[in-house]
Amino acid sequence: MTERLSATDAYLAECGATVTGVTEAGVVLDRTVFYPRGGGQPGDTGLLRWDGGEATVADTVTVRGTGEVLHVLADGATAPPVGTVVRAEIDWERRHRLMRTHTALHALSGVIFTGHGAKVTGGNMDDDGAARMDFELDAMSQELAREVEATLNARLAEDRSVHVRFLPRDEALADPDLIRTKVSLLPPSVDPIRVIDIEGIDKQADGGTHVKATGEVGHVMVVKTESKGKAFKRMRIQLEE
Ligand SMILES: [Zn+2]
Repeated sequence: MTERLSATDAYLAECGATVTGVTEAGVVLDRTVFYPRGGGQPGDTGLLRWDGGEATVADTVTVRGTGEVLHVLADGATAPPVGTVVRAEIDWERRHRLMRTHTALHALSGVIFTGHGAKVTGGNMDDDGAARMDFELDAMSQELAREVEATLNARLAEDRSVHVRFLPRDEALADPDLIRTKVSLLPPSVDPIRVIDIEGIDKQADGGTHVKATGEVGHVMVVKTESKGKAFKRMRIQLEE
């Protein structure tokens, strides 16, 4: 199974690896810094380089069933054969923006829950610093959006630490903060459970990549609010740069 280096160190931009599988769909490595699409975060893009060749990675996904990480090559790229030693390099600028965006979404979720008691029902992010989050909230207004934006930026500016922890399943299921994020819905085989804890702001089970402290996110704008129905409100955010 592919060793996912991003799970323990989101700041690794490249690594050495060996090709363990090649299909029409892409390349599998024994280890990788590439994050496979999931939890609302897009898959990484970048480059595989080896002696005598290179190939652009257009997307990264998890292979259903096996859990391997598949590096999807750009159209026309030639895959390195099985056994080739490669350098795997992600597009770091793009990934770091996604880490900032992802961390902003956690903080937003914490601010809305703490201030308004509303749970998150979904979320998604783009690689240009835009993201959306859905809440079980009855009412949404411009005033609320401005208030949430101000609180969100104040909390981010406190530069809270973002911890990555691997909790035994029993311990995670007993944590009240994690219960509200429906940690019990994770398949029983998931043990330990990876938990992202932003000190005093938000805690949830999560496989994505995040920055190490909230100050790194920078300023975030709430650019749009939408009502998608009763107790279903959407907020769109954008990193300022
Ligand atoms: Zn996350």
